[in-house]
Amino acid sequence: MRPWQEAARAVCRRARDLVAITGAGISVDSGLPDASQVVRDYQMQGIFSSHHAHRHQREFCRLYTELANRWGAAAPNQAHLALARRHAKIITLNLDGLHTQAGSRDVIELHGSLRSFRCLQCGARHSQPDELTACVCGVCSGALWPDVVLEGEPVRHLGLALEWLSFADALLIIGTSLSDNPVRQLPQIAKENGAPVIVVNRRADDWVPYYLET
Ligand SMILES: [Zn+2]
Repeated sequence: MRPWQEAARAVCRRARDLVAITGAGISVDSGLPDASQVVRDYQMQGIFSSHHAHRHQREFCRLYTELANRWGAAAPNQAHLALARRHAKIITLNLDGLHTQAGSRDVIELHGSLRSFRCLQCGARHSQPDELTACVCGVCSGALWPDVVLEGEPVRHLGLALEWLSFADALLIIGTSLSDNPVRQLPQIAKENGAPVIVVNRRADDWVPYYLET
């Protein structure tokens, strides 16, 4: 073990108010596709552009349903589970819902969740991908739309995320480079309050349990 890894583990063990910011990298060990992969001939990255989604509504909903089904079958890995057991507060960029499934209670999904759809006509929420084969609302037959933030739309619950970070005494950043605004500014809030920041870029499945539980 390198000295900085020992130090990171000590910080995590001491922390009373631990916050984690997580991205796609934490779910790689759960077998989820990342942005570089292709689903039904579509590059994952392009699927979430607001422009594309609204121009090809029906195709977008079908693609989306396929993703929701595929991701719905995934299970939390050791990194999700360790964070849940440690009662860490989670701020995630992911849509997969795996933190909640792992048992975490304090979860902010900045981009929404793949497990939730709403009807554009009557506003009914739907959570079962099976209902969605035709992308039609079972209540009023209106068009269904995934309850997620598309590229170019504002993230959700940012105020609460900032509040959590201002009280954090340690911050873990797992599986994300936080390259976009406004999320790239989040670590600064914790740093300004003197919280150490620990970055886990690879093998979250091994390192997160190591830092939190050994
Ligand atoms: Zn409806």
